[in-house]
Amino acid sequence: MMIKKKIQIKEDIFSSNDQQAEAIRLLLDQHKLFSINIMASPGAGKTSLIEHTIGLLRNELHILVIDGDIATSIDAERAKAAGAASIQINTGGGCHLDAFMVDKALSDVNLAQFDLLIVENVGNLVCPASFQLGTHKNILVASIPEGDDKPYKYPGMYQGVDGLVINKIDLMPYVPFRMDYFLAGIELLNPGIEKFMVSCSTREGIKEWSEWLVNQVRSKRSLPRTTG
Ligand code: MG
Ligand code: ZN
Repeated sequence: MMIKKKIQIKEDIFSSNDQQAEAIRLLLDQHKLFSINIMASPGAGKTSLIEHTIGLLRNELHILVIDGDIATSIDAERAKAAGAASIQINTGGGCHLDAFMVDKALSDVNLAQFDLLIVENVGNLVCPASFQLGTHKNILVASIPEGDDKPYKYPGMYQGVDGLVINKIDLMPYVPFRMDYFLAGIELLNPGIEKFMVSCSTREGIKEWSEWLVNQVRSKRSLPRTTG
């Protein structure tokens, strides 16, 4: 009986989160504001990727960053220093963002002035993929030093995303990492997923990733304005 009750509560949490996420998606669509949710383990390079992306696109797009962290506003300040508007969410111990936190963060924002919304989730490879935030694409940042077995050990995360950024590829010569084994795991879980090989140190691949984002923003803009 106890077990059944626990499962029921979990389902209720997910379904109300999904409803809130759907409301956010409608709001973003009304403003033709393309959005991504960036997830990764701590230290994979989410914030560095966001900084470099802002650096390349700041003259082209108005970017809003929502940063989710357990504590501090370090990442939101980095995004702001790079040239974006930023909002920090502190989860106070919570290990993921949910749609209610994002809704609250967006409540005072004039969405019409932005072209791209980047949500940086809490560093965690387990539960962020289970909580939709209403963003258009879920992106996972993997990094070479984490090891090539991560798709096999964290299948939920690798399955639940629309794009994969493989960061720190400049470290390939220095750490044991079998790219074939890593990519085979991804192909099993998420065949044909969009992949970007980047290094935030050498800036290799950042341009291709940024161009993909700009194309996503452009195709969102060309859609007819939704009503209601
Ligand atoms: Mg960060
Ligand atoms: Zn969590």
